[in-house]
Amino acid sequence: MKPKMQLIEPEICPRCGKSFECGKSGKCWCYEIDTKPFMLELINKKYESCLCRSCLEEVNRLEKV
Ligand SMILES: [Zn+2]
Repeated sequence: MKPKMQLIEPEICPRCGKSFECGKSGKCWCYEIDTKPFMLELINKKYESCLCRSCLEEVNRLEKV
């Protein structure tokens, strides 16, 4: 992949429609949230991109996407 202009690109959360930023790296907040591997699989199956922080916390809590 070619490096892009910005390291962090704003993304639109496919779940709630809000914009958020994901660095897609080990420094991103999404690595700070302890997401169960099966939850990540479900999220990947259902959504094309990753979710914003609040949605990720919510799906973790509810254990459904
Ligand atoms: Zn969201």
